[in-house]
Amino acid sequence: MVDWSGGNDRGPKPTKDAIWACVAANGYAEDPVYLRNRQVAEDWIIATLTEMRDAGHRVLVGFDLCFAYPEGFATQIVGSEDTLALWDWFAVRVTDSPAGNNRFDLAGEINALLPGTGPFWFNGLQRDIAHLPRKGTMRQDHGLPEKRAADLAVKGSFSPWQLAGAGAVGGQVIMGLPTLSRLRHRFGADLSVWPFQPADAQIVLAETYFSMLPDLVATDPHPIRDASQVAVYARAFSALPPDELARLMAVDPTPQGWVLGAGEAETLKASRPPALQPPPLRNDCFAMPQGAHWTPVDAALTHLRTQLTPIARTEELTTAQAAGRILAGNVTAHRSHPPAPNAAVDGYGFAGPAPEGVNTMPLVTGRAAAGQPYAGAVPAGHAIRILTGANLPDGVDTVVLQEDVRATDTKVAFHGPLKKGANARRAGEDMTAGSVIMPARHKLTPADIATISATGVGSVQVHRRLRVGVLSTGDELRPAGDAANEGQIYDANRPMLCAVAARWGYDVVDLGIAPDDRPALRQILDDAAPRCDVILTSGGASAGDEDHMSALLEGTGSLALWRIAMKPGRPLALGMWQGAPVFGLPGNPVAAMVCALIFARPALRVMAGGTWATPEGYLVPAGFAKSKKAGRREYLRARIEDGHAAVFPSEGSGRVSGLGWATGLVELGDDALDIATGDPVRFIPFGSFDL
Ligand code: AMP
Ligand code: MG
Repeated sequence: MVDWSGGNDRGPKPTKDAIWACVAANGYAEDPVYLRNRQVAEDWIIATLTEMRDAGHRVLVGFDLCFAYPEGFATQIVGSEDTLALWDWFAVRVTDSPAGNNRFDLAGEINALLPGTGPFWFNGLQRDIAHLPRKGTMRQDHGLPEKRAADLAVKGSFSPWQLAGAGAVGGQVIMGLPTLSRLRHRFGADLSVWPFQPADAQIVLAETYFSMLPDLVATDPHPIRDASQVAVYARAFSALPPDELARLMAVDPTPQGWVLGAGEAETLKASRPPALQPPPLRNDCFAMPQGAHWTPVDAALTHLRTQLTPIARTEELTTAQAAGRILAGNVTAHRSHPPAPNAAVDGYGFAGPAPEGVNTMPLVTGRAAAGQPYAGAVPAGHAIRILTGANLPDGVDTVVLQEDVRATDTKVAFHGPLKKGANARRAGEDMTAGSVIMPARHKLTPADIATISATGVGSVQVHRRLRVGVLSTGDELRPAGDAANEGQIYDANRPMLCAVAARWGYDVVDLGIAPDDRPALRQILDDAAPRCDVILTSGGASAGDEDHMSALLEGTGSLALWRIAMKPGRPLALGMWQGAPVFGLPGNPVAAMVCALIFARPALRVMAGGTWATPEGYLVPAGFAKSKKAGRREYLRARIEDGHAAVFPSEGSGRVSGLGWATGLVELGDDALDIATGDPVRFIPFGSFDL
């Protein structure tokens, strides 16, 4: 999005009323760019578009600039209503430099070509200019309408004939059309102009209007309003689903053009991530000092723990629907539980205590049952038939169990002593109204649903399910069920990781298999980023020739290649792709699984809005003996046999069958060296990884 300006150079320091631009993709905007004058701006636009075109992106370039004049003008100037020819006409006649330009003189010259006085008006200069009236009311008989249909469609739009004065746009239109003309010729068939040409080129220029979303601009934090504007509109347009954008662009190609998004403020607002959603992660969130050393597992985990924040959006759900979801805010009891004192058992209620020995009490008529309270008061020395859950009537604070009494229709007798308050529940003894009963970031269990419901809370703010994309990479991979030749192997990681992510309660987005081909992988990531909150990939994560995942993440400036002191391992490639964190796991299925359990599990949980989770392990005697290197954490596929931790006979990390054989992992500490049979080792059941 580009906010144009008709003025001269605005100086080196970012300021208002200059040209501002902002690049966004999938609703994520980069920082707005300050462009001090039109020459700097044109160079920047050309460089940016060239880079994007070469990277294979499609770009919609929105200008806050009328692309055309009211009906009839172009015909008088260039002989037909050909707006693009009119651009070229201006490109030849406008002179422009950071110090000054000829816009007022040119407007006067144009007026001279047309009948009557006008249509251009408002001379912003001291000296008089022939044929350029200072006031709009001085114009007559020029025969042209004040505005286009497009201008009438947006509230508060100005006529392009007014060259200067507060809010006027005429000057910047004259000073913008030459740039548009040059962009068009420069990018040739790679560029088209909406709606005058089919919008199917890689780069599409469109006119828009930056006053359609004032409320969003007002809440944007940037101190300079023009900067906020370009950021807000870039975010909104880039977040539009393709079909919505297509709908906005499906207008009749009139020669006077149209304002993209006119009358569609609500559509544009809806396309943005709703307010109060968690902010995206920073691009450098995975960066970790690497050096020549290997990073210990705990250091890597600490990094994730401190750098990651929730990214899953939030929504309100009924309490009944919320099991398995993560709370986005504290839950406060609407009402105390129990709301009133009531009976904990079936029996007879009276005013306690009852002394030692036989107690005989007359019964009042009627009874108190759950949901059917007794309306009257029970006189001192009297008792009432009462059932579990019934509110204690006035005059009752103690209940004797029905199994402990002899009763007739009119009397009840039982052995004391019985303390005051026996078998009765106090109001609020479980939870009190207004108190926090469940903290934000807690993952709701079925029991929690009961707790929350008991206090009358019918709906809760929760995080949406984290959308986890799963992608396998490698030319050698085929999906199971397909034919495969000798050089090919079946993709084991994707179905495994999809199942793991589903077990963890996430929405799984199966991204398929990517070939070892950079443009193809880029395309897959581009398509995936808007559909996923986080992307898990396997394979191609090292720094080798065919490790395209690391190479692409490198290109975003966000790649962190973690060399972790761990077996099974290989580097983890972490980075950001258009706002989506990417977890590049090793290709080897065993390593992919172990890295997913150790690193991805707690990381995803935090991003999903939850708390950091360390898996519970138990010390058990080793059913094996082994020596290992110091300074490296090892995870062995293991299961419990006769009270001992048995490990899978082969440590080869390609042996995927060992994962199924195991019921958990044995974790050997970084500093462990020799493990003898019977030594205590830490066994972490797969259940502790939420599998
Ligand atoms: P890479 O990390 O791409 O070098 O892969 C390491 C090893 O894991 C190679 O033997 C790959 O063939 C294998 N591998 C990679 N991805 C998968 C997968 N999705 N399923 C099974 N094996 C894989
Ligand atoms: Mg590979």
